[in-house]
Amino acid sequence: MVDETARPVVLWFRRDLRLEDNPALNAAVATGRPILPLYILDDSGDGRPLGAASLWWLDKSLRALDASLRQRGGRLILRRGDGEAELHRLVAETGANLVVTNQRFEPEAITRDADIAHALRGEGVEWQDHNGTLLARPGEILTEAGRPYKVFTPFLKTLLQTATEGAGTPAPQVVFTPDHPANDDINGWGLHPSAPDWSGGFEGAPGEAGAASALAIFLERGLSDYTAGRDFPGRQSTSRLSPHLRWGEISPWRAVREARHAALRGRISTAQADKFVAEIGWRDFSAHLLAHFPFMATRAFRPEFDAMPWRVDPADFAAWTRGRTGYPLVDAGMRQLWATGWMHNRVRMVAASFLVKHLLIDWRQGEAWFWDTLTDADLASNVQNWQWIAGSGADAAPYFRIFNPTLQGEKFDPAGSYVRRWVPELAAIPDRWIHAPWSAPAAVLAKAGVRLGPDYPRPVVEHGAARTRALAALKTLAAGTQDDAQCPPQTNKQP
Ligand code: FAD
Repeated sequence: MVDETARPVVLWFRRDLRLEDNPALNAAVATGRPILPLYILDDSGDGRPLGAASLWWLDKSLRALDASLRQRGGRLILRRGDGEAELHRLVAETGANLVVTNQRFEPEAITRDADIAHALRGEGVEWQDHNGTLLARPGEILTEAGRPYKVFTPFLKTLLQTATEGAGTPAPQVVFTPDHPANDDINGWGLHPSAPDWSGGFEGAPGEAGAASALAIFLERGLSDYTAGRDFPGRQSTSRLSPHLRWGEISPWRAVREARHAALRGRISTAQADKFVAEIGWRDFSAHLLAHFPFMATRAFRPEFDAMPWRVDPADFAAWTRGRTGYPLVDAGMRQLWATGWMHNRVRMVAASFLVKHLLIDWRQGEAWFWDTLTDADLASNVQNWQWIAGSGADAAPYFRIFNPTLQGEKFDPAGSYVRRWVPELAAIPDRWIHAPWSAPAAVLAKAGVRLGPDYPRPVVEHGAARTRALAALKTLAAGTQDDAQCPPQTNKQP
C-alpha cells in the first residue's frame, strides 16, 4: 500500500518568488511531506509572453529563490514549456498527489488555473490555492449591490475596511526536496535581452533580500517625504518596490504593515503611510478591474474610445521610444526606462500622455513598449494606467486634460537635475530653459554647447498645435465622451 504521507507536495511558484509571508509555501510545509518547489517558464504566456526586461529580472529572481531554498535543504525545480503539461509531467514522475500554489489573477491565468485544477482533480491530485499576491482577491471587494468597483476611492475604502492584514510569517527553516526530479539549467534559458542586450544598466537587486532592503531603505529615507516628494523624479522618495511586488519577492501586506508600524512608532506621520498604502491599493484596484473586465487588456474600457482616430507614425513612435521628442522631461523618462528598466511614476504619466495626446498614437503601442522594457511590467497595472492616461479607463483622467510637458518639468524638476542626468547633452543649459531649450536665446545655447537639431532635437510637435489636434480627435468620438463643458466633478485621484 502507498504511504500517502510520504508522497511529495508540488509547490508551484508563479508570482510569489519568496519564502517569507508566503501562504502556499506555509501550507506545503504544514503537510510535513517532502516539497517539490517548481517554477515553469511558459513561453506561450499566461495571457501574454513576458517582456525582455521582465525576463532579465526573472532570471535573477529565480536564482535568488533557488539559493534560499538550498540553504534550507531544498532547491527549485525549473521546467520550461506549457505550464499544464509540465505540471502533469512532474506529478507523474514523482507521485505527488497535492499541488499548492498562490493564485494568479490575470484573466487568462484564472481560466488556465481552473482548467488545470479540474484536470488534476480528475486524476486524484488535490489542488489548493491561496492569495499571496494581492491585499484582497478580486470578488472579495464589491459594492453593496455586489458589483465590481469602477472608481478607486470607494474601492480603497472598502478594501481597507474589509481586507485583513495578517501577522506575517517568517521563512521556514527547512524545505526538504527529494533530489530525483529532472531540472532545466537556467543558464540555457537565454533570459537576457539579445539583439541588442541593453540590460547593462538595469537597476534593482532581484530577489527576496533585494526586496527587503528596498523596503528598509524607503522606510528609513523615503517615506517621511512621500506625499510631497513622490512627484519629483529627481528625489529618492518612492520605494522602488514595483518589480519586487510584481514578482512577489515581498508580499504587499508586508509593505503595508511596515509602513503602518513606522507611523505607529511616530517615525513618520500617518498621512505619509496612508498615501503609500493607497498606492499599493492602486495595484490591487488594477488587478481587480482586469479580473472583472478582461477585455480591457486590449480594448478601451469606455468603448467610444475604440473609435479614436489614432495616427500610425513609425517615425514619431521611434522618436518617443528613443527619447528624442525634443521635450526634455519626456526624453529623460524614456531614456531612464531604456537604461534602467524603470521609470518614475510622474514621468510615466507625462511620457504616456505625450504619446497618446501630443502624438495621437494608440495607447496600446505605448503599453506594449512599456511591457517589453519595464522590469516591473504588470499586465493589470500597465493596462489600467495607460487607459487612465488615455482617458478611456474605468476611473480615468479626462482625455481633454492634456499634460504640458514643459510645465510639468518646471513644476516637478525645477532645477532640471533629472533632465540633466538622463539627457546629458542639455546639462549646461541654465535652469530657466532646461525644459524648453528651443526657447533659449542662441547665445545661451551656444554657451551651453547645444545645437538644436544635430545635438538635441527640436520638438517633434508644437505643444499648442498638438493640443488642438488631440481635442479635435476627441470631438470625433461618439456622444457620451465628456469635454470641458460637460464634465462633472471628478471622483478620481491621480495615481
Ligand atoms: P511607490 O510610489 O513606492 O508605490 C508603491 C507601490 O505601489 C509600487 O511599487 C506599485 O506596486 C504600487 N503603485 C504605485 N503607483 C501605482 C499605480 N499608479 N498603479 C498601480 N500600482 C501602483 N506599475 C507597475 O507595477 N507595473 C506597470 O507595468 C506599470 N505601468 C505603468 C504605466 C503607466 C503609463 C503609468 C503612468 C504607471 C504605471 N505603473 C506601473 C504605476 C507606477 O508608475 C509604478 O508602480 C511606480 O512608479 C513604481 O515605483 P515605486 O515602486 O517606487 O512606487
